[in-house]
Amino acid sequence: MDGSLYRMTETQQPAPALTATGGLLSIDLGAIARNWHHLQRLAPESEIAAVVKADAYGLGAVPVATRLQSEGCRSFFVAHLCEAQALRAHLALTTRLIVLHGPVAGAEAEFAEANITPVLNTPHQVAAYTNLARSLGRKLPAILQLDSGMTRFGLDAADLPALLPLLDAIDLQLVMSHLACADTPDHPANAMQLANFTRMRALFPGIKASLAASSGIFHGRPMQLDLVRPGAALYGLAPIAGRPNPLEPSIRLEATVMQLRHVPSGTPLGYGHTATTTRPSRLATIAIGYADGFRRALSNQGCVWHGETALPILGRVSMDSIIADATNTDLTEGDLVELIGPHRTPDDVARDSDTIGYEILTGLGTRFARRYI
Ligand SMILES: *Cc1c(COP(=O)(O)O)cnc(C)c1O
Repeated sequence: MDGSLYRMTETQQPAPALTATGGLLSIDLGAIARNWHHLQRLAPESEIAAVVKADAYGLGAVPVATRLQSEGCRSFFVAHLCEAQALRAHLALTTRLIVLHGPVAGAEAEFAEANITPVLNTPHQVAAYTNLARSLGRKLPAILQLDSGMTRFGLDAADLPALLPLLDAIDLQLVMSHLACADTPDHPANAMQLANFTRMRALFPGIKASLAASSGIFHGRPMQLDLVRPGAALYGLAPIAGRPNPLEPSIRLEATVMQLRHVPSGTPLGYGHTATTTRPSRLATIAIGYADGFRRALSNQGCVWHGETALPILGRVSMDSIIADATNTDLTEGDLVELIGPHRTPDDVARDSDTIGYEILTGLGTRFARRYI
């Protein structure tokens, strides 16, 4: 295979200027740092790693990781090798950069060369990586994932006896597993997974262990173990649905009012004419749409905000625009209105469009100006 053909390019393209685009995404690195410290207080005996996969859930892996490193974070998780390669040069050599998916067959040497730590999830990955370590004569750092009951990634209990003798070749830094139902604290799967993981990790005496991502941290000390792996909570998403969110919101998404018009009562608007004014109205056309991650399921759902004034969204979300009811406001062309922020969090937007805050953040498009605070 010609490796140059499909090699992923670095994704650090500069964001466009606000006047060249329809919106402004503001990312509060201070809030993300405070959320990291908040989690440290909740899990005082654990290392607080940071999950920065998918470009730090859309917020920018380089600025987020370099800020958290300066706050004291020493371990960062991504999903793919390419994400780690793009980040490696921005972090200190002693900062751990960990790839959750581990090496695709043939990519093992790229981990060793670039000082990137793989999570080994399958017997094949363990065999290939321990082989490489043996041939290099070097105890390469690695992490093992054990499947405690999510049935997604990781070694089964039955795989372990055959693999244990191979592990002498590597520097086993951590055994980890992942919870399937952590956002529902009283779900019986949580205790079941903790029990399974406790049994499996007994085969690795003296090796540190990790089970909790964001939600798991809030289950308290027994789930926290030696290292926790928050992503969502760092970015301000609610760890437990239906409970007050103790974390700070980290983003504000605003878009530009492109056009304002007065229309009589009874005016149909937008694709499909799914909304009709019920009074003489002033309508604002705003430069954001589903191509920017403002999902079409938000058609006729909820409001945009101008200061403390709520402007209901009317009609369908188009690819590049929405219409909002600006009747009785002093909105003018060129103003910015808030789509996501203190008045309507990513979790609120998710609830209104039948998804989760994770998908709202990772779905945010690239056509915004960006400001890091
Ligand atoms: C994505 C991921 C995390 C982070 O999960 P959050 O719910 O965002 O905290 C942690 N561990 C693994 C294995 C993951 O895939």
